[in-house]
Amino acid sequence: ERAYRRRVILSASDPRLSEKKFVEAPVIVANNDAKYQINKDRSKAYAQSAETECRLSVALDLASNEALQAADCDKAAKIRWLQYHDRDTADLCGMLPLAIGMPVALTQHLDRSEDKLLLRGRVGRVHSWLWPENNQYVKFEKASWQLDGASEPGLYPVELKKRAWFLDAKRKKPVLKVKRQQIPLVPAFAITAHASQGKTLAAALLDLNIDKRTDPALGTVAASRVRSRHDVLIMRPFPLWLFQRGAAEGPKLLLESLRGQEIDWTAYREARQPTATCKECRLVKAVQAFYDAEWSRVRSNQPATCIACTNKGKPKPGPPKRKYSGGSASFVCSGCKRAKIEDAFPRAQLNQQDAEAKRRCLPCLRAATALTCTVCKSSKPVAEFEASMVTLPAEDVVCSSCQERIKQRGVKNSREGWFTCKSCKGFFKAPPLDSQGQRQQYCGNCSCRSTRAANQQKCRSCGKMFQQTQKKGQPRVRNCPGCRRPASRGGDATPSKTD
Ligand SMILES: [Zn+2]
Ligand SMILES: [Zn+2]
Ligand SMILES: [Zn+2]
Ligand SMILES: [Zn+2]
Ligand SMILES: [Zn+2]
Repeated sequence: ERAYRRRVILSASDPRLSEKKFVEAPVIVANNDAKYQINKDRSKAYAQSAETECRLSVALDLASNEALQAADCDKAAKIRWLQYHDRDTADLCGMLPLAIGMPVALTQHLDRSEDKLLLRGRVGRVHSWLWPENNQYVKFEKASWQLDGASEPGLYPVELKKRAWFLDAKRKKPVLKVKRQQIPLVPAFAITAHASQGKTLAAALLDLNIDKRTDPALGTVAASRVRSRHDVLIMRPFPLWLFQRGAAEGPKLLLESLRGQEIDWTAYREARQPTATCKECRLVKAVQAFYDAEWSRVRSNQPATCIACTNKGKPKPGPPKRKYSGGSASFVCSGCKRAKIEDAFPRAQLNQQDAEAKRRCLPCLRAATALTCTVCKSSKPVAEFEASMVTLPAEDVVCSSCQERIKQRGVKNSREGWFTCKSCKGFFKAPPLDSQGQRQQYCGNCSCRSTRAANQQKCRSCGKMFQQTQKKGQPRVRNCPGCRRPASRGGDATPSKTD
């Protein structure tokens, strides 16, 4: 505990902050807002201390006719777009502060040639610029190459890039195109814990200026990005609540990682707290920021809306998170071999035959770029399949064109091998009739109860499994004992005798 306490900076005058490695070390932050803010502030501070000018390159967004017709593309909307995550805007950021000498990272591959390898994420320094044409010359250290006409090795012109992004990117066939023009750079002063995954940094600062919505594992995720605890400074004391909520392993893991032990934090977090991007606000949020029904959509690889966006505009919006307990991380994925909670898997994976050995988690499934259709037997890019196909066991995967063809032949009957799911209305290959000779009515993602033990139920509120005998003639009990409203309010309120 002492060890990490000593790494905490309590004031801006801490002498360690002026150690060379920390002057330009990136700050690892919880979210995009913090990233923008810190990048902006530190760029300004950098320009000030270097006595050079700091300029803001603002992205130019041009909405297509489709977008203009379908969505608000007024000034307010465009300002909002500038705040979108660059992942949603074709990797071109909205507002880019720049100063000469400042460290910047590439947001796109610029040059894949073997000697240069100017790939996404590569860090260089702004060397000079031709404003307002917005051509940046970026200097890459330790370069052995020199461009014709360049004054020194490692100097590379980074030009304005035009790329299309979509307001409705989560839709199957996005149409609301916006063209953005921006320099493909970001300041390398702050990165999100998410983006820091898989990188080892020479030194890092952790920003623990976090609110209660922050994932408790963040500090630990960030701490694992450096080689030793001497390469990390923590920007403020850990608030106590960070350690008091749920993740009891948190502090222990943090201390271990500060001692230099290698722990895979990303995996640790992802296994217990799967995340998804909200289709409205486009923020990446953890499972408890989605209502159960919306998370079910995530699990079948459909776009979903977070609680905050669902409740937007309501007089009493309520908390942006639901009470949630994911249960134990006891489902091993056959892809990444990690044990994760149930909610990290599509239901179709858990419901399949031989699931124990075959099931794969959502991140593993979504990483696929191609699928093999079991009808036409050809391997095609995932875009040629319905989104939910990604979540099905391999033997049920059918491409969209085969689906269409079969539908047109009028084959709908499960006896002929096909059926339409009663719940999601998807069109699926029918499995053999079940033991009672029943026809399939629900797809693997919708038939969630089939494999559960009798009387087992998933809590509507927190998602925890609980035992409940449903009495005939009485309303179904949908919430676990912990989530039930106090007595005398109908079915849900009856305290259960089974627990
Ligand atoms: Zn949202
Ligand atoms: Zn996996
Ligand atoms: Zn096919
Ligand atoms: Zn279904
Ligand atoms: Zn509950």
